[in-house]
Amino acid sequence: MSGATYDTNNIFAKILRGEIPCHKVYEDADTLAFMDVMPQSKGHLLVVPKAPSRNLLDADATALAKTIPVVQKLANAAKDAFDADGISIMQFNEPAAGQTVYHLHFHVVPRYEGAGLKPHTGEMEDHGVLADHAKLVIEALQG
Ligand code: AMP
Repeated sequence: MSGATYDTNNIFAKILRGEIPCHKVYEDADTLAFMDVMPQSKGHLLVVPKAPSRNLLDADATALAKTIPVVQKLANAAKDAFDADGISIMQFNEPAAGQTVYHLHFHVVPRYEGAGLKPHTGEMEDHGVLADHAKLVIEALQG
């Protein structure tokens, strides 16, 4: 449904309103970051601007400008937290591009030398593991 409007009941809008839980790692006035429940690699997390937009295509430029420094901050924290060799930043727009949740988000995916990625929206991770990983990111952010 390319060109569709923003649905205020998408799952990330519910997380932003506190209606469903998440493994939060960072929050400021404009952004929230939390662990992806179906990680493609150890430490995969999501950075979500609080401003509503379906994806990058309809996002407000000011919101984007506030979000990218947070993506950078979380990329460095995840690299440190998991001793990763690299970080992939991924962001999908519309179903044809692989988007499944229609509130703009950036994937921060730690990469490990020689290791591929698990499938996108593959297996649900254990919540204890996600909680442990969130703690490691929070500690890395505290430096
Ligand atoms: P995308 O396909 O780019 O829209 O990515 C959506 C991402 O959100 C996928 O990687 C999912 O694993 C992840 N996801 C879906 N539901 C939740 C949730 N409740 N909490 C955290 N991550 C989620």
